[in-house]
Amino acid sequence: MNVLVLGAGQLARMMSLSSKNLDIHVTAYDVGSEKVIDPVTFLTVDQSLQQAIDSADAITAEFEHIPLDILKLCDESGKFYPGTEAIATGGDRAKEKALLDAAKVACAPYKIITEKQHLLDSIDELAMPLVIKTCQAGYDGKGQWRVKSLDDVEQIWAEMSEFLAKDASHQIIAEKMIPFDREVSIIGVRSKNGETAIYPLTENQHTNGVLTLSIAGKEKNAIQAQAESAFTAIANALEYVGVLAIEFFDVDGTLLVNEIAPRVHNSGHWTQQGCHVSQFENHMRAVTGLPLGSTVLNRPTAMINVLGQAAIPKAVLAVADTTSHWYGKSAKPGRKMGHINVSADSLSELGDKLADLAKVLPEQDYPGVQATAEQLK
Ligand code: ATP
Ligand code: MG
Ligand code: MG
Repeated sequence: MNVLVLGAGQLARMMSLSSKNLDIHVTAYDVGSEKVIDPVTFLTVDQSLQQAIDSADAITAEFEHIPLDILKLCDESGKFYPGTEAIATGGDRAKEKALLDAAKVACAPYKIITEKQHLLDSIDELAMPLVIKTCQAGYDGKGQWRVKSLDDVEQIWAEMSEFLAKDASHQIIAEKMIPFDREVSIIGVRSKNGETAIYPLTENQHTNGVLTLSIAGKEKNAIQAQAESAFTAIANALEYVGVLAIEFFDVDGTLLVNEIAPRVHNSGHWTQQGCHVSQFENHMRAVTGLPLGSTVLNRPTAMINVLGQAAIPKAVLAVADTTSHWYGKSAKPGRKMGHINVSADSLSELGDKLADLAKVLPEQDYPGVQATAEQLK
């Protein structure tokens, strides 16, 4: 079978690698260069987007900020999963919040802003500190501001109005800053006939808005159940097909949704070693109509993102049960270049292995690894 992925980055690459043994062949459409490529070799495939659509058995996407005309073209083919509505919802925070409200899933109190008075109203209604985010663009914490005092308003409004002026459809959202204990996410998959399979909850650490460390295998049943019911409500509301990720704030054992991602997600990369069937393979199974695979955790597993480095730090491979996943991209400061997964038979053994990794990874480049190792040991 042939699958076309919109977007040609590491997620398309890992979807391709994960499904070779299912005899699924992946091509990727790079929206920026408008080229169809093989996302593993990066070689150009001599096809137009329309030809790639015509020759695909299924079409999917690795990111949510895709021009509407391309989404519509794919939808017309009748083989696009999870489809335009789900992808557009994940790519627009205003649509996303409306979906959460309709599905009765709790999120941070918010207000949509299109003019300066709305910003002032949001300060009255929600109370500072606020997190302000662009609704239509933004990833890895880009397109965000923090309002901590009234002195911040002029400067932030100047930058916000620049974004609003770019396109009449642009909106901004103010959210109450949530004093969370930690961040977690759930990754699950829904098939064409509405079956779901959900992975164990993942605990995530972000540094400057970018995910740096994920851990799976330490969660209690009650919190897993909360996350699963949010997943099911959202996936069913969207009649979703494929892998869907939901990020949450954990506030004293209660989960509030931060955002959803209508795709495979960085906080699910640990499933490549932690489970029999990874999020990438399960996504490909769902969109091609194959039976879903197991989402049961085999062993506690952690994932560490490698940011900005030109090569995989070799010493990590000497630590037992460690694997490297490299994306083959050119290095830029802070760019996601690859990731490391490490598994263990118990959480304390995972702590020992993270401590071994922390010895060979410089703390400034891999914040949180040492501290997390100590907590788990
Ligand atoms: P991603 O790469 O995950 O798509 P993004 O740019 O869409 O990132 P968010 O996930 O919305 O951004 O926010 C990035 C981080 O900022 C969050 O993981 C969280 O640490 C912090 N953050 C966002 N919104 C809030 C909030 N309302 N209260 C507290 N912290 C927040
Ligand atoms: Mg996001
Ligand atoms: Mg996020």
